[in-house]
Amino acid sequence: MQYNDFKGEKISALGFGLMRLPVIGGEENQSDVDIEKVRELVKYAVDAGVNYFDTAYVYHNGFSEIVLGQILEEEGLRDKVNIATKMFTLGVDRPGFSPQAMFDEQLERLRTDCIDFYLIHGLQGTKWDLLRDKFDIVNHMNRLKAEGKVRYVGFSFHDNLPAFKHIIDEYDWDFCQIQFNYIDYRTQAGEEGLAYAREKGVKVAIMEPIKGGSLVFPDNPDVDRIMAEAGLSGETPAELAFRYVADQEGLLTILSGMNAMSQLTENIATFEKAVPGCLTDAEKKAIEGLRAYINRADEIPCTTCRYCTRECPNEINIPAAFSVYNNSKRYGNPKSGLRNYNRSCANIKDCVECGSCIDACPQKLNIPELLKQVREYFENA
Ligand code: SF4
Ligand code: SF4
Repeated sequence: MQYNDFKGEKISALGFGLMRLPVIGGEENQSDVDIEKVRELVKYAVDAGVNYFDTAYVYHNGFSEIVLGQILEEEGLRDKVNIATKMFTLGVDRPGFSPQAMFDEQLERLRTDCIDFYLIHGLQGTKWDLLRDKFDIVNHMNRLKAEGKVRYVGFSFHDNLPAFKHIIDEYDWDFCQIQFNYIDYRTQAGEEGLAYAREKGVKVAIMEPIKGGSLVFPDNPDVDRIMAEAGLSGETPAELAFRYVADQEGLLTILSGMNAMSQLTENIATFEKAVPGCLTDAEKKAIEGLRAYINRADEIPCTTCRYCTRECPNEINIPAAFSVYNNSKRYGNPKSGLRNYNRSCANIKDCVECGSCIDACPQKLNIPELLKQVREYFENA
């Protein structure tokens, strides 16, 4: 395992993300975390040198924190790991929001008296302003540190670059957490934000290094060909994606949400040799090829003008269906869009093929036929 230096401590380059844990009884049952499977993963990871575990108040409806606390206590591992967890901020503008009450509950769930890395979750510029002005969050965080209940204060981030710089400049952060991978390197904070944090001495934890699994590309001959043409053999697309991120300077850790032993062992092997400057010319070439492949034209050329939706008697969200489809096709993996499909457009099954939408479409798309194609793609995923 490679380690990053952080204020005189060694933090494992691979961090264990606890957002997508194995559950009992199906994906919809997020509270029913399979603790024995998680126990096996956590013990194996700690033995392999992973010492950063990232959870949040809301993950698995609170059971991510609960299960982690129970395992660390029962296995006597608390002193070997750093716990990172997050203050939930979605309810910040609702009555009853109390950062202190939430924090006390988190200590209890995690069976500890100190959180090593405490983050404000999912910050955007306006939310930061609200927390600062209405909840005096600066003094709250300073007090938690002074009382020895938090060792390091940070924030996780989802907004644009100016908002990132604004937040970084407003407080003496120990670290932050951003989304970053070889596709999302110029969105949100991006590589410019990463460089800005580095200049300010704020170490960065990376989330979504494989874009929620989209950059894994299982059984994709186009991707295999791009990798081979670049001169790579024996390296998986996931390993390449991790190495792209690990190549960056100024990182705290790289989070991977691992829920199977095969992922964990593969990632541990990757992080034996993934360090800043590790990326070879062949890997850089493969990444250029993969970027071009992923950014190729949409398969269904819908411009999302929405003229069609006005005509549909069954209120089918036609552009959403085409967008979810195009996105999944881009990564060659229907499973990557299945959740969005089920959430936003599974009612395409209600299409009665009346054809009213076709005349409205400036792109002259045969919408009912294409909807059948989308449905088949996801229903066979
Ligand atoms: S063909 Fe299908 S999608 Fe188009 S208007 Fe009729 S029901 Fe709606
Ligand atoms: S009218 Fe055509 S281009 Fe516009 S949203 Fe509908 S399908 Fe897409």
